[in-house]
Amino acid sequence: MTRQNDNYKSVDVMDLNDRRDLDAKNRRQSTRTRNPRNNNMNRNRRNVNDFYDEGLKAKRGKNLNKEFAIITYSFLILFICLTGYLIYFVQFESEDFINNSYNPRIAHLAETTIRGDIISSDGEVLATTQVDDAGNETRVYPFGNMYAHLVGYSINGMSGIEQEANYNLLRSNSFFLTKLFNETAGKKNHGDTVVSTVDSRIQSAAYNALGGNDGAVIAIEPSTGKVLAMVSKPDYDPGNIAANWDRYISDEDSSVLLNRATQGLYAPGSTFKMVTLMSYMNQNSHYDSFEFDCNGSYDIGDYSMHCYNGKAHGHENLLEAFGNSCNCAFSEIGLGLNINDFGVFSNKLLFNQTLPTKLSNTAKSRFNLNADDADSTIAQTAIGQGETMVSPLHMAMLASAIANDGLLMEPYVIDHTQNDQNKPVKNFKPSAYGQLIDSQMASKMREYMRYVVTDGTGSALNSDAYAAYGKTGTADFSSNVNENHSWFVGFAEDWTGRKIAVAVIMEGVSSGNSYAVPATKQIFDAYFTY
Ligand SMILES: [Zn+2]
Repeated sequence: MTRQNDNYKSVDVMDLNDRRDLDAKNRRQSTRTRNPRNNNMNRNRRNVNDFYDEGLKAKRGKNLNKEFAIITYSFLILFICLTGYLIYFVQFESEDFINNSYNPRIAHLAETTIRGDIISSDGEVLATTQVDDAGNETRVYPFGNMYAHLVGYSINGMSGIEQEANYNLLRSNSFFLTKLFNETAGKKNHGDTVVSTVDSRIQSAAYNALGGNDGAVIAIEPSTGKVLAMVSKPDYDPGNIAANWDRYISDEDSSVLLNRATQGLYAPGSTFKMVTLMSYMNQNSHYDSFEFDCNGSYDIGDYSMHCYNGKAHGHENLLEAFGNSCNCAFSEIGLGLNINDFGVFSNKLLFNQTLPTKLSNTAKSRFNLNADDADSTIAQTAIGQGETMVSPLHMAMLASAIANDGLLMEPYVIDHTQNDQNKPVKNFKPSAYGQLIDSQMASKMREYMRYVVTDGTGSALNSDAYAAYGKTGTADFSSNVNENHSWFVGFAEDWTGRKIAVAVIMEGVSSGNSYAVPATKQIFDAYFTY
C-alpha cells in the first residue's frame, strides 16, 4: 500500500511539477503576447502563411505571365515572319507574280500605260510602241528578225525580254506631275524603258556571221555574265508574229520559235573534249606526263575509232592531243577515267541540271555514262559523240568560267530599267554562281585552249588585236559526212583585259574550223574593234 501510496504520491508530485511547468509556459506565453516584439514574431508567423498564399498566387501569376509571354512572343515571331515575307515578296516575288500575263493587274496596267521600249546597251531601239492619232497602238521591232528570240514577242503568251520584263515595260515611273496630268487628262502614261545587256554591234556581227545557216550564237562577258549577243536561226519577224502564228506552231520541222541558244540541245562533238580534259586533270595529278602515239585509228574490241579525216597525229603529249583534237588519244584518256567520278564531275560542270541563269526556259544538258557501259561507248562519249547533249548557252558558260578564273557569273540579258526621262529605275546587278572549277584548273585550261588557236585546229582565230582561246568541234548528226554541226566554244581577251566568251554552232554544214571558227572571228573582230 505504502508503496502504492508512494507511487501515487510521486505521480501526484510529478503532475504538480508538470502543472507548474505548464503554468510557467503559459505565463511566458502571455508575456510574449504582450511583448510588441513578440507581436512582430506572430505577425511574421502569419506572414509565412501569407507568403505561402502569396507564393501560390505568385506561382499562378508566374504561370499566367509565362503563358502571356509565350502568346506575346508567338505573335511577335509571326509578325516578324509576316513582315519578312512581305519584304521578300515585294523585293523578289511580286514582279514574277505581277509579271504573269494572266494577272488582272497587268491587264489594268496595259489599259493605262503605253508599253515601254526595249533598247540595246548602246541605245538602239529594239522594240517600241507606236500610237496613231486614233490612239491605236502598234508594237514595232525596228531590227526585224535580228533580235527575234532575244527580244521576243508580246502577244500569244509572250517570249524573250517582252515576257521577262512585261511588268517593267507596263510600269510607269514618269515624273509624278506628268503622271498626274496624264491621269487627269485621261491619257496613258509612258511605260519604263528596259535596257538590255546586248550590244547591237556584237549582235549584228553574230547575226551576219551565222549567215543563212541554222544554228545559234551566244556571247557573254565573263566578268559579269552580261549577254552581249544571242542569235538563233531560223528566225522570225516579231512584228509579223500574229499573221504567221498558226504556220509557226504547226511547222514542227523548222521550230522557228525555239531559241536554239538557250533551248537547243546538240551533240557537242569535240568541244566536249574540254570536259573530258578537265575530268582527266581532276583525276590525275600527273596529267602533264601523258603521252600517246596516234596512227589515225584506235581499236576498241570490234570498234575502231578514227581521227578526223583519218589523220595520224604521231607522238603527242596531252597539250598536243587537245590542240590536234585527237580522237584516238581522247579515247584512251576516256577509257582510263573512273567513270563514276567522270559523272560526278560533269554534274558539277552543270550537266543534267537547270543552268544557273536569269534567262528563262533553258534546256538541261545531258550526260549519262555508266561504269559498265561498253568501252566503245565510253570512248565515243569522251570525244563528244555518245548520247551527250549540250545547249550553246551551257558551253558558253563553261568558256566564260574558264576565262574568269573558274568563277561563273550567271548570264542575264536585262541591265536596268529607266523612266521616259532616262532616269534609272532599277538595276539588275551581276550575280556569281561560284567557282565552277578552281582557278588553277581554269589557268591550265586557258593554256590548253590557247594552244588550239596558236598551234591547233582554231588557228584562223589568230589576231594581233586580241588573244583567242577555245575548242573546235564537229558533231555528226547524219550518215552524210558532209552534213555536220560545226562548233566553236571559247573566248578572247585584249591587252586591256576585256574579254568575251562565245559558243557558236552552225547546223548541217561541215567541220568546226571551216564554219564556226570564221564566224567566231567575225564576232571577236567586232567586239575588239569597238
Ligand atoms: Zn589522232
